[in-house]
Amino acid sequence: MTKEIHVIRKAHTLVAFDRKLNGHVYLNDADVAYDEKGFVHVGGHYDGPFVSESSGRDRMILPGFVNVHCHSGEEPISKGIFEDMGTAALWGNALYEYSNLLEIDDDAIEASLTVMVGDLMRSGVTTLLDIAGPHASWLPTLAKSGARTFVAPGFREAQWHVEDSHRLDFRWDRARGRDAFARALEVVDTANAHPSGRLGGVVAPSQIETCSPELLQDAVAAARQRGMPITIHAAQTMTEHEELLRRHGLTAVQYLEKLGLLGKDLILGHCIFVDSHSWTRQRTEIDLRLLAERQTTVAHCPVTFSRSGMALESVGRYRRAGVNVALGTDSYPFNMLEEMRQAMICARLSGKSVFDVSTGDIFEAATTAGARALGRDDIGRIAVGSKADFLVVDLRHHAMQPVYDPLRNLLHCAAERAIERVHVDGTCVVSDGRPTLIDYDGALAKLQEAQDYACRKAAENDTKGRAMGTLAPLSLPRR
Ligand SMILES: [Zn+2]
Repeated sequence: MTKEIHVIRKAHTLVAFDRKLNGHVYLNDADVAYDEKGFVHVGGHYDGPFVSESSGRDRMILPGFVNVHCHSGEEPISKGIFEDMGTAALWGNALYEYSNLLEIDDDAIEASLTVMVGDLMRSGVTTLLDIAGPHASWLPTLAKSGARTFVAPGFREAQWHVEDSHRLDFRWDRARGRDAFARALEVVDTANAHPSGRLGGVVAPSQIETCSPELLQDAVAAARQRGMPITIHAAQTMTEHEELLRRHGLTAVQYLEKLGLLGKDLILGHCIFVDSHSWTRQRTEIDLRLLAERQTTVAHCPVTFSRSGMALESVGRYRRAGVNVALGTDSYPFNMLEEMRQAMICARLSGKSVFDVSTGDIFEAATTAGARALGRDDIGRIAVGSKADFLVVDLRHHAMQPVYDPLRNLLHCAAERAIERVHVDGTCVVSDGRPTLIDYDGALAKLQEAQDYACRKAAENDTKGRAMGTLAPLSLPRR
């Protein structure tokens, strides 16, 4: 039986993976052929059997992006509310005081997930790692979307409580944390065994400071027994950095090393406040060396942090130290190409040089570095035998013209506007910029209702009982 092979003929530009160089290269006038299992031909002329063929004229074909850190849950309904907010006494982060104000019900949580996955896919993401609370529609919605997904059900033993907008307290409930851990393991096992073959699991203790050392070590043992990646928020705020110094006298990275957690299966979100960051006061150079030695990945999400005035210092410095830096979007706008552009801008600002990081470096972070983080060498690259996860970019789009170096145009100028199609396992999941397998518009309408409702209820979840108009004043006065 002939396999269902599809061919794209004479692509203007094909971004292929060169095994000898161990990196991406441009090929011109190249054929690419694939079926649902993966690429069967990359570059040169394909003269084998096929069931369909299309022209690659004026098109760039590139590997789908790997997003190693994002949150569905209530993140999508927070859009447009808290961008200007923060708690001054907690280094300006909005995380502790504002992240539990919006409530979302089961129906809206499915809509929230659908919108996030739709936004990510239309910006070129074909693999994503979603850190969220488990719910009944999680795996079915992801399977339906067509995206390749690693689900990371978060669990923790302590809840944050901000007293009077200035002091962060931790309210511990060990039994509750252990229950959530047990449930999380059931979910990751179910995801791994999912018949679609596109779902996987990641063990995800939520934050370094909300889990006991015992839970962290048990979580890692469970992940390593399963051969699964592990992810945790660590070194993400100065408040956390100071809390770990108070409790253990160690930075986040050094504490994880002491517990035996660092390894090539560990992904740290967001690992900003290391011992050599200008806001911390260690003035040592231990953390990056440890991360490089242990081959641990940093999930770098510059948009949400730079929005709060914080930056990793710097992507180039981490890379030169030998750290595997992969990219995530964290929260809205869930746009991987905007994230990549922001990653370059932040690196060049915090690294104080245009040479801190190149367009090619960031492209690698969004593709092969993310694949490495997930222990995969068959995604994030276009090579024979790799999964057929790819994007088709229209070089004739005004934002892509004139073209000298198409990747530069895409990352610095056009972003998702020039993406025509996105494929996962060969299946078209985005066509003409629209998700094909999910009801994106329907989900968007539900999200508006959910946001209106959550805003009306916000005062009930605020320790000071403030209404939304006080918590997040509009950016202009309403007359
Ligand atoms: Zn996060």
